[in-house]
Amino acid sequence: MIEIIFISLENEMDLVLAHRRSLHLGERLGLTLATRTTFATAVSEIARTVIEHTDNGSLTLGLRQTDQRYALTGRFSFGSPEHFVPADGYYYAQKLVPEFIKTEADGVTLIEIRIGIPRSVNLDRSKISVLAAYFKEAPPMNAYEEIKQRNLTLNRIAVEKDEELRRSKIIDQKKTEFISVASHEIKTPITVIKAYSQMIKVMKEGCTDRVKGIVDKIDGQTTKLLSLVQQLLDVSKFENGHLSYTKERVQIGSLVSEMVAVMQHITPYHEFEVSVNEDVEVEIDKLRMEQVFSNLLGNAAKYSRKNTIISIEAAADEADSVRISVTDQGIGMSRVDIASVFEKFYRSDDVINSHAGLGMGLYIASKIVTDHGGRIWVESTPGSGSTFHFTIPRPEQPADALN
Ligand code: ADP
Repeated sequence: MIEIIFISLENEMDLVLAHRRSLHLGERLGLTLATRTTFATAVSEIARTVIEHTDNGSLTLGLRQTDQRYALTGRFSFGSPEHFVPADGYYYAQKLVPEFIKTEADGVTLIEIRIGIPRSVNLDRSKISVLAAYFKEAPPMNAYEEIKQRNLTLNRIAVEKDEELRRSKIIDQKKTEFISVASHEIKTPITVIKAYSQMIKVMKEGCTDRVKGIVDKIDGQTTKLLSLVQQLLDVSKFENGHLSYTKERVQIGSLVSEMVAVMQHITPYHEFEVSVNEDVEVEIDKLRMEQVFSNLLGNAAKYSRKNTIISIEAAADEADSVRISVTDQGIGMSRVDIASVFEKFYRSDDVINSHAGLGMGLYIASKIVTDHGGRIWVESTPGSGSTFHFTIPRPEQPADALN
């Protein structure tokens, strides 16, 4: 069937539409007044029965080609109701049109009515496409049809958007799977290289200072590579929801001191200043929380000049959480960066060409913090430095109360 007009059959107003559109189509086809009235009457009688018995009916008006002739066609489609008791008008409609075909399959009932179009009309493909274009562009017949058309467009857009979202989710999932598989494959040989370079480092004999220097460099770079691959693996774990936390109780003061000692060793050219206002207890996954610290402290060092100060402050925030703040005197960032730094793979335009990185550290840190029930945010001024804050909720019961 060549479909020209579609009308969903929902209420009495649609009867009027179905009737008027049928007349209009007959008129554009050049049919006699008697033929178009007959067709339109049959259409509205069946439409009435469909509206009365179902809430999912529709009418498609168009043309069907049979034996080199065209027939003006109305096709009704609706989910087969349990009790279909047609009104008198339905039987009347059957008598009005020369062809009335009812079929049922997979819970859907189709009724097609047809009236042959005289050869004198000289209908051909090009006339039909002009007709279809005409009805596609035709203005609504009344305010009701205008609202219906708008709803239809909105529904179509909503369906398209849903489909777009579904597809982009699949692509995103595939990307995460790829990252996970690739990182695993890369991690194995790097671990082997790391093991060999450490073996050479401890081999006293046969190594000149130059070779030792080179091996140190290989070892250092391999450590960096391993940490990048580990970040990639973490990202895919977060995305797949495969991350579990093993929590323990620790004093925030000792955690901060431990982390600062490690970082001072890795970045000897910055001065770390620590201030812990109240040494409260927190319940955390220590290894994961160490990742948060090393990312924030590492960034503070990476994005500021040597010999500047990085301060770390831990203070009991509101009654129920502790706030940790890491402040640097570095390059700072713009408002746009502030709004996006915790997004996956985000890097500021200012650092892309000057500082190495993949834009995963803060994304991972923010996941870890929020998974612990805390918050993370940043305050920054371009050129003057940044302060990253995050909170960790304090356990509801102190450790002694648990014993
Ligand atoms: P990476 O450092 O590998 O790029 P991150 O996720 O740790 O990834 O950081 C994302 C971006 O946030 C960085 O590329 C940088 O633009 C900005 N950024 C993070 N920390 C700082 C900081 N302390 N000072 C200035 N910019 C920062």
